[in-house]
Amino acid sequence: MDSRTNPLASRIAVVSVASNPEILIIGAGLAGAAAAEALAVRGFTATVLEARDRVGGRGFSRPFASSDELLEFGGAWIRPWQVHIHDACARHGVALRPRAPVTERRWFRDGALHKDGPASPAELEQHERCVARIAADALSLKKGEERNELGQSLTDISFTAYLTRIGAPQATRNLCGAWWTVSGNGDPERVPATEFLSSCARGGGAPDSMIDVSADTLVGGVTLLAERMIVGSGASLVRRAAVMRIAHGSDGVTPETADGRSWHAEAALLATGINPLAAIAFSPHCYRRKLLRWRPVISAHRLRSGPKRRASRLVCSQPAAVMALNGCCQSAWSRMARH
Ligand SMILES: Cc1cc2nc3c(=O)[nH]c(=O)nc-3n(C[C@H](O)[C@H](O)[C@H](O)COP(=O)(O)OP(=O)(O)OC[C@H]3O[C@@H](n4cnc5c(N)ncnc54)[C@H](O)[C@@H]3O)c2cc1C
Repeated sequence: MDSRTNPLASRIAVVSVASNPEILIIGAGLAGAAAAEALAVRGFTATVLEARDRVGGRGFSRPFASSDELLEFGGAWIRPWQVHIHDACARHGVALRPRAPVTERRWFRDGALHKDGPASPAELEQHERCVARIAADALSLKKGEERNELGQSLTDISFTAYLTRIGAPQATRNLCGAWWTVSGNGDPERVPATEFLSSCARGGGAPDSMIDVSADTLVGGVTLLAERMIVGSGASLVRRAAVMRIAHGSDGVTPETADGRSWHAEAALLATGINPLAAIAFSPHCYRRKLLRWRPVISAHRLRSGPKRRASRLVCSQPAAVMALNGCCQSAWSRMARH
């Protein structure tokens, strides 16, 4: 999408790129924007490399079709406990407004939109049983219990295996998968079920209860906030810079794009989200399995160039951004500050 179809795309010019930044931030979503701010406060010069022609990542606001009305096509709702994003909005003069009430719901199944519910009549009973199981398990987990009343472990099972264990029909998988897209990050085969269940527990336990706690949206959208954070930080921004390779060693870090552009810095902070990391080749090879392994909170994970070698200068932040601004990234920032 370019500036003709997305007026927001060109609002930040390519700011003068520091010839020798101390830190490269890869990814200009909210995590990258938050990293830029946090590093600026600590006196680092940073350059943000962003694959797309716009900032904001999965938070993406743009006018709908031929209208002037700004819509969110990605992360949009802010919950009361997301204090960091509330703070960021206050700092950058981005107002919050209550989420519009849900007036109608439609579900896509069997090739068509339905208004009657997420499951076909044949699946409905099993779907409802599964949703009740999820709600009960989510609330058990919230109480700190590691097993449900059936004695089944809640903490030692992947999200996919959990859905299989509860006998989830396709409708339940679709519903949970949709909420997982919104509330989580990572391969459901590898992330623990607790990631999903704890999101459900933020509401009443059932997946759909997440909407009840989604209280506010940003006036001007997530894109506006991300822009203001990056500009305010003083970091340089390079758009259309999809990093394909990263060489790293004791002399620093050198990311390179497919068209041969490269940058060098003392360190890099990876704010791409977990899944896009698979498209980046690291030299020397990084233990990606270690990076991607599922754990309840993959908040900030130091990449090492080998099990016994000293830590490389790459810091991975997996902040799940809007949510993650809640704190997950912060350990990445403080580690970075110690460099
Ligand atoms: C449909 C949808 C609805 C959502 N709703 C909510 C919600 O209501 N509330 C909420 O809190 N969260 C919500 N989320 C989740 C939230 O949007 C994400 O958690 C958050 O935006 C992730 O931010 P991030 O900075 O970690 O990653 P991203 O936003 O994914 O940013 C990563 C950036 O890195 C760039 N990048 C990737 N690879 C490379 C590369 N190789 N080189 C250079 N740049 C690269 C990408 O282009 C992107 O800009 C939703 C997500 C979706 C998809």
